[in-house]
Amino acid sequence: MNFYTLSLFPDLITSALNEGIIKKGINKDLIGISNYDLRTFGVGKHKQLDDTGYGGGPGMILKPEPIFEGVEFIKKHYNINNAPVILMTPQGKVLDQNYAKTFIDYKNIIIISGRYEGVDERVVSNLVTHEISIGNYILSGGEIPTAIFIEVISRMIPGVLGNKDSLSEETFNTNQIKYPVYTKPQKFRELEVPNVLLSGNHQEIAKWRSDQSKIKTTSKRPDLI
Ligand code: SAH
Repeated sequence: MNFYTLSLFPDLITSALNEGIIKKGINKDLIGISNYDLRTFGVGKHKQLDDTGYGGGPGMILKPEPIFEGVEFIKKHYNINNAPVILMTPQGKVLDQNYAKTFIDYKNIIIISGRYEGVDERVVSNLVTHEISIGNYILSGGEIPTAIFIEVISRMIPGVLGNKDSLSEETFNTNQIKYPVYTKPQKFRELEVPNVLLSGNHQEIAKWRSDQSKIKTTSKRPDLI
């Protein structure tokens, strides 16, 4: 799957995704990430990107021309006219695991990051196909939300995670949070690993895990039930 991003600080996105399993996925050619600098498409000699808002109000607004031109360049250059064009915005649909899954079958996705007071509304109504928020709070830019979106989708691509069972057992996949996990040593200070996990009895372990998931979900995340 290929992601094309357009933002004021492309290095923020590159560095956030240049480690661990996402980097391995890139090296295995399962994921492609091209981060474009909006400034390249800025207006005039000064490559202007933002301006004051009509009707007054605080702050600067990203101009429509660089964003339209950037997206049109990417679509033409990679011959991907039908790719979804996502805008990261606190006004969008809030991203969760189920919503993320709906993007898994796209081959190409274009993602725009805002800054300042956001983007000219003509971008939203005439260019963007999906507005996505990463949560009900305000950040200063869409670059980190973009990296989060790319990471969530990328780890669902077959072959990106080393162990494919990691995905199916994860929190949210079953509308429950994951059972508690333990590693060596068996006794750390006075704290011991539950006996059932040492029993070798797979049925009992599975039952214990399922019970623990329910207990944890009820106490910590009742909203998921
Ligand atoms: N004034 C705007 C917020 C602008 S925040 C408003 O009131 O709606 C600046 C940029 O940061 C946004 O354009 C968006 O790209 C990004 N951003 C901020 N919070 C975000 C969030 N929760 N999810 C996704 N993007 C966000």
